[in-house]
Amino acid sequence: MSEAIDYRQAHATGAISITGVSKSYGRHKALDDVSLELDPGSVTVIVGPSGSGKSTLLRTLNHLERVDTGFIQIDGDYIGYQRRGDKLYELKEKAILRQRINVGYVFQNFNLFPHLTVLENLIEAPVAHRQLSKRDAVTRAGELLDIVGLRHKADAWPRHLSGGQQQRIAIARALMLNPRVMLFDEPTSALDPELVGEVLDVIKKLARSGTTLVIVTHEIGFAREVADNVVFMVDGRIVEQGSATQVLNNPRHERTRRFLARVL
Ligand code: ADP
Repeated sequence: MSEAIDYRQAHATGAISITGVSKSYGRHKALDDVSLELDPGSVTVIVGPSGSGKSTLLRTLNHLERVDTGFIQIDGDYIGYQRRGDKLYELKEKAILRQRINVGYVFQNFNLFPHLTVLENLIEAPVAHRQLSKRDAVTRAGELLDIVGLRHKADAWPRHLSGGQQQRIAIARALMLNPRVMLFDEPTSALDPELVGEVLDVIKKLARSGTTLVIVTHEIGFAREVADNVVFMVDGRIVEQGSATQVLNNPRHERTRRFLARVL
């Protein structure tokens, strides 16, 4: 593990606390009273059938989605809100963006800026947010490109890279801001099967680097290997959660058993 992303081990940051979160789209309840506590630096994999609310839950963690009830805290800070007295008030756009610096997000479809080179994709946010000087951002980008094994692609255009390479760049880009938490929304589901492994290998490298990882994926083998916690969701609710061994090898609920029998 490179020192570049190992430094957080000294600080216990990235504790996630989700309390009674519900979210509806029209009459459909996408999240139904979800509560979850995740330790700083832990790795959590969320599994469940399509439409069970996994992606919605992930999106609430950086306020890409507004919750209807309940609240989310990262290291004690309310996500998307500020507490005054016993009331929560939604933050202004600028404050929300500032908060998102702490929460990296990796999308299913990479979402690299097509008009920027790999290096420009990486340095854009830290320079725009004045987190790093351009010179320091370029140095940091080089370190992260080494970690994802793509330093030789620094000057390439995203469209000239494979899907697996684009996703590894997207991960490096999210790490540029030194987030306390990294969220991965089905990071390998848009990839050809032969490219899945290289992306999972990069995520494995990040596990136990000190950054808290929350990963929505159908890759059960990967979950078994790296996850501290596995959360199984159905119909917007957490049906079962526990250690990877407990949930994946010895599930308590029939729904979990049936789901695993189908995906394994
Ligand atoms: P998963 O990630 O487990 O597949 P999602 O969180 O994407 O599930 O979706 C949960 C439910 O909420 C689904 O029924 C989905 O159709 C619905 N949903 C998600 N996003 C929206 C949206 N923006 N508008 C309306 N319905 C949505």
